[in-house]
Amino acid sequence: MASNSQSTASDEAHRTDRAADAGSERESTADHESETALETARRQLERAATHVDVDEAAIERLKHPAKVHEVTVPLQRDDGSVDVFTGYRAQHDSVRGPYKGGLRYHPGVTRDECVGLSMWMTWKCAVMDLPFGGAKGGIVVDPKSLSEDETERLTRRFTQELRHAIGPTKDIPAPDMGTDPETMAWIMDAYSMQEGETIPGVVTGKPPVIGGSYGREEAPGRSVAIVTRETCDYYDYPLSETTVAVQGFGSVGASAARLLSKWGATVVAVSDVNGGIYDPDGIDVASIPSHDEEPEAVTQYAAETDVTQIPNADLLELDVDVLVPAAVGNVITADNADAIGADIVIEGANGPTTFAADTILEERGVHVVPDILANAGGVTVSYFEWLQDINRRKWSLERVHDELESEMVRAWTELRDEVEARDVSWRDAAYVVALSRVADAHEARGLWP
Ligand code: NAD
Repeated sequence: MASNSQSTASDEAHRTDRAADAGSERESTADHESETALETARRQLERAATHVDVDEAAIERLKHPAKVHEVTVPLQRDDGSVDVFTGYRAQHDSVRGPYKGGLRYHPGVTRDECVGLSMWMTWKCAVMDLPFGGAKGGIVVDPKSLSEDETERLTRRFTQELRHAIGPTKDIPAPDMGTDPETMAWIMDAYSMQEGETIPGVVTGKPPVIGGSYGREEAPGRSVAIVTRETCDYYDYPLSETTVAVQGFGSVGASAARLLSKWGATVVAVSDVNGGIYDPDGIDVASIPSHDEEPEAVTQYAAETDVTQIPNADLLELDVDVLVPAAVGNVITADNADAIGADIVIEGANGPTTFAADTILEERGVHVVPDILANAGGVTVSYFEWLQDINRRKWSLERVHDELESEMVRAWTELRDEVEARDVSWRDAAYVVALSRVADAHEARGLWP
């Protein structure tokens, strides 16, 4: 099986390189509703491969990660006892540059989930034409069960276990579920202490005071809003006459909803984990704190006003122009795809639409703009942060916004050209662009040895 030359570095003692047994993954075709991120990612790759003239061996190689690091992370609790946690870092492909992707602290983290999400990161970076490959990792832990001191100790030890796998030219983690800028600051500090010099470029999503970029936290939501604006314009939906429903009012959903509202769209529904609110005349989304600012603020807002409350499931089926699922994965499934009322779906969350649901929506003529473009503002501003760290020169917020705007419009335009030229869905177009770039890079570099 093919392997690129960057994935041959010697392994450290504590980790297990399991790329060799990745081929034993279950390839369920029956139960699409419970499909894992890895199953969805592989199906999407196989489908994209039918549109692109790429060597079969390259496709087979890309179905598997280059490496999966599995580490044991012991933690001394505040009461002196010791608990042991499992951590992962899946590194999918690095042919175009260092691995890049988030770290999750969540009880549901699995090896397969990390692998599937690392594949998506490869495509996301390639769609944006960033010089990065894909990675994802995390620790199997409920972050709410840890004190702040325990989270710091766990993070520092995890960093030590992964020290030889990460680095500004090897693999650059970023925040994801259960981790935040503070977590990245601890990783940067632990890594820098061990290396004997300050190395801000080892992570992105740091606080700006230690090399983080302005505008990073808002970036995925901003890119969702930019992609929504461009897509509405293309399908002749003037924003001033466009209704939008947003599931999830967190970092991604709240930023997207606020920007779209500012640009003239009518946001008629938003939700958090407990449920949603609906007002056909539009919701003043600027007045509701986001999940980061105040967890479950939508629920709070509903309790304090007489706005109509709706379950999350109903929000997805509202008769609106645009639906932005921006909470969690697998919310649009074969069970509700027929009932989705929007004409356009912009994927704010990672993997909100199952493979089966995607097919149904396509048959129904619903335009689905995929996550690997729509929320790619996050990794794009991470790239800007990495450039700022390497060059030791900070960009203004205005510059970050301007460069993100032009990168997103360029990437959206490239996809639109593929949609028109090949008469394919937006997701297929995104995969065609991404896969072509990754496969061309593999072909140019060749196989080592
Ligand atoms: P967040 O934790 O800031 O907010 C999540 C929101 O979704 C909250 O309002 C929460 O109450 C709600 N929610 C949680 N579970 C829900 C459920 N089952 N049903 C309905 N609502 C639910 O998270 P975020 O950073 O905004 O991430 C949201 C999605 O976007 C995730 O899929 C994430 O992987 C993806 N994403 C995030 C970033 C980033 O940098 N933050 C970048 C790209 C993609």
